[in-house]
Amino acid sequence: MQLHLYNTATRNKDAFESLTPGLVKVYCCGPTVYHFAHIGNLRTYVFEDLLRRTLEALGYNVNHVVNITDVGHLTSDADTGEDKMEKGARREGKSAWDIAEYYTQAFQKDWKALRLLEPTAWPRATAHIAEQIALIQELEKKDYTYTVPNDGIYFDTAKFPRYPDFAKLDIEGLQAGARVAVTEGKRNPTDFALWKFSPSDAQRQMEWDSPWGRGFPGWHVECSAMAMKLLGETLDIHCGGADHIRVHHTNEIAQSECATGKPFARFWLHGGWLLEAPDGDGKGGKMSKSAGEFVTLDVLVKQGYSPMDYRYFCLTAHYRNYLNFSHAGLDSARDSLRNLRKRTDPLIGKATPIRSDRGLEWRTKFLESVCDDLNFPQALGILNLALKDPDVLEGEKAGLIVEWDRLLGLGLTEAETSEAVELPDDLKSLLTERAEARKNKDWKRSDAIRDQFRDRGFVLKDNPDGSVSVN
Ligand code: AMP
Ligand code: ZN
Repeated sequence: MQLHLYNTATRNKDAFESLTPGLVKVYCCGPTVYHFAHIGNLRTYVFEDLLRRTLEALGYNVNHVVNITDVGHLTSDADTGEDKMEKGARREGKSAWDIAEYYTQAFQKDWKALRLLEPTAWPRATAHIAEQIALIQELEKKDYTYTVPNDGIYFDTAKFPRYPDFAKLDIEGLQAGARVAVTEGKRNPTDFALWKFSPSDAQRQMEWDSPWGRGFPGWHVECSAMAMKLLGETLDIHCGGADHIRVHHTNEIAQSECATGKPFARFWLHGGWLLEAPDGDGKGGKMSKSAGEFVTLDVLVKQGYSPMDYRYFCLTAHYRNYLNFSHAGLDSARDSLRNLRKRTDPLIGKATPIRSDRGLEWRTKFLESVCDDLNFPQALGILNLALKDPDVLEGEKAGLIVEWDRLLGLGLTEAETSEAVELPDDLKSLLTERAEARKNKDWKRSDAIRDQFRDRGFVLKDNPDGSVSVN
C-alpha cells in the first residue's frame, strides 16, 4: 500500500519512497536534557514512534536516530542568553555533565514507559564535537561564515538565497522588526552561531578547543553533524515539533546543503503542539519547559493515570493538529482504553489467520488510514468498529488486534511486565499488601485490591511462577 506523508518542504501530502530500497533513514531532534521532558515533548516522540511503526509495518527497515542535546542550546533562539545546560546546573547545584546524565536517563525511562521503540542510535552532542568542528570548517572553506568578535562564528544566511523558502519567512519584515534586537556584529537578523566563544569573564563547564579558540558549538550544527555522520548526507525523513520549522530546521537545511551541495532531507515531518488550557489569567498556549511549570509523565502517573492512557490520548488527535491537554480529555482517553481492553483482553492468545473477506476488508481499511499521513484517530475508529462486527470471527479479531497493536503500540496483546509501568506510591504499597494477603490465603482482600487496580486503569495478572505483572 502506498504511504503518503505531509511534507513541510512541499506543503503537500507526498507519496513516500525511500532513497535506498527497503531502508528508511530517519532523524528526530531529541531532548535538551537540562530538565525533565514534559508531556508536550513526549507527544512529538509518540508521533515519531507511530511513523516508525508504520514504516516497519510496510516492510522497511528503519535506521532511526534521536540525538541528545547536552550542550549549546541557548535560552534564546537568537543565539543570545545562557546555555540551558549551564543554567540547569546552576539551578540544581550540580555539574552540567551530571545534569545531562540525570535528565537523559529520566527521558529514556519515559521513552520506555510510553512503549516507544528503541532508536538505532542516541548520539550525544558532546560526543560529536570533532564532527561539528569539521562541518563548520567546510562552511568556512566555502565562505559561508564570518566572525563576530567576542561572540562566535556565524553563518551568513544572505549567501543562501533559498534560506526563507522552507519556513516561508518574510526576510524584509524580519529585518525591519529586528533593528534593535539583533546581536551586535551580526550581518542579518537570521544569521546564526555555528561556534560560540567561551566568555572571557566566566568559566564554562562545557567547552572545547577549536580552530577559532575555546568555546562550544551552536545548537543547530549538532543535528546536521550527527545526522550526516550516522545517516549520510541525504536523509529520507527528518522530524521534530512544529516549533522547529522557522529557526532550527531552517538553519539545519542552510548549513547542511551549503556544506554538501545536496538536499539534506527529502521529507520533513512536524508534530503539532500540545497546548495547555488557559489558566485564571488566560495564559495557555504551547506547553514549554522554559515557562517554568509543566506536566511530566511522572506527574500523570502520580495522579493515577498509566503511560498508556497518555499514549491513547495522543492517538485520538491527528499528529499535525494542536491537541489541548486537559484532565477531562485524559479521563476520557483512559475510559476508552479501559473499554478497549475489556474487549481485547479475552482475545489474547486466540489469534487465527485473517482469511474472511470481512476480516481482510477491515485490515485494508485500517492500513489505508495509517498510510494516509498517519491518520491514527481514524484507524482507532476502524478498530472499534471491527471489534463490534458480528460477522468477524473471534480468532480473526484477535489476529487483527495482534497486527494493529504493532502499529498502535498500546500493549493490547502482551502481558506487560511491571518494569515498564511506574506505579504511584499508594498502589505500590497496595501491591505489597496484596502479596501479604495472598500469603495468608485472604482471597477476598486480594481480589478487592485487584479491583482497586482495575478502577485506576491497571490490570494485575498472577503468573504461574508466583510473580505479578501489571498492565
Ligand atoms: P526540546 O527538549 O525543547 O529541545 O524539545 C524536544 C522536542 O519536543 C522537539 O521536537 C520540540 O519541537 C518538541 N516540543 C516542544 N514543545 C512541544 C509541545 N508543546 N508540543 C509538542 N511538541 C513539543
Ligand atoms: Zn535538531
